[in-house]
Amino acid sequence: MKQKTLWPALGGIAVAAAFSIPAFAVENEVNIYSQRQNYLIQPLLDTFSKETGIRANVIFAQTGLVERMAAEGANSPADLLLTADIGFLTNAIEAGVTQPIKSETVTKNIPANYRDPGGLWVGLTSRARVVYASKDRVKQDSITYEELADPKWKGKICVRSGQHAYNLALLASIIAHDGEAKAKEWLKGVKANLAAKPSGGDREQAKAIFSGQCDIALGNTYYMALMATEDKQPEQKQWAASIKVLFPNAEGRGTHTNISGVVLAKHAPNKANAIKLVEFLTSDEAQKLYADLNNEYPLKKGVPLSTVVASWGTLHPDPLPLAEIGKLRKRASEIVDEVGFDQGPSS
Ligand code: FE
Repeated sequence: MKQKTLWPALGGIAVAAAFSIPAFAVENEVNIYSQRQNYLIQPLLDTFSKETGIRANVIFAQTGLVERMAAEGANSPADLLLTADIGFLTNAIEAGVTQPIKSETVTKNIPANYRDPGGLWVGLTSRARVVYASKDRVKQDSITYEELADPKWKGKICVRSGQHAYNLALLASIIAHDGEAKAKEWLKGVKANLAAKPSGGDREQAKAIFSGQCDIALGNTYYMALMATEDKQPEQKQWAASIKVLFPNAEGRGTHTNISGVVLAKHAPNKANAIKLVEFLTSDEAQKLYADLNNEYPLKKGVPLSTVVASWGTLHPDPLPLAEIGKLRKRASEIVDEVGFDQGPSS
């Protein structure tokens, strides 16, 4: 059999290797394809390697990793794929590049609604899709997603593309709770309230609140923490300081949360080591690192939040299983196009 190494002879996709690539396969290793950035992943892997003696090789790329695994087929060196969002996890499964993760430790550490029932994906952390609200211009301290369609917000809402995975998952959760017809009406209402055509990322929406372009936006929790502590671009601290975090539906069904997670590669050459790493990533120690390094919510019970995240108050997550959201994403994407959401308020 051909030796599987991470030697990058693997056509066409630009990747940044975060390690010196061995010219031969190392006995005791695990290979990770990661859509999550190195500053977050490396400290976790260093701790794992120190404790187990297993060398952890990581290749980072924003896009194309699932396609790469599919193209590599049985010769793929990948053991694990780390990614954020149920959408990307679902894509990997639909591409047929995964196999179930079977581990009692993982089952014990991660609540059932944050795991695929068949073990095809495992959530590692969560993030809430919250409302960023102007401290100066928004008086209310609670809100629901449904309320974003209320005409009182006309011209006041900013949001990134409706087709972005974060917004598709939110819409999928609304379909699950309110039904398809109401979800579509809702999205039309939100579109009519937009201040501008959807563009940029979550941080740009915060900037738009700071600059007065809009009063409320949808964004993920960790961006608020990143902006608040952004020493390299201090203007982002001002954006964050102009905003209060509102947890939508906190008093009802709970706030929509998504996950970062992991899948086990179908042809994982180091499967036992890969399972060990997944178990480690669900441990108290790793969950605490995730919380502190990227201000995400740990999924293992009892692990403390970072100071910034704790300062926003208690998150009551919507208990809807992420697997349900995974199934409804496609319909959500169609609805975004049907209402012409990304064309903005005036079309
Ligand atoms: Fe993000």
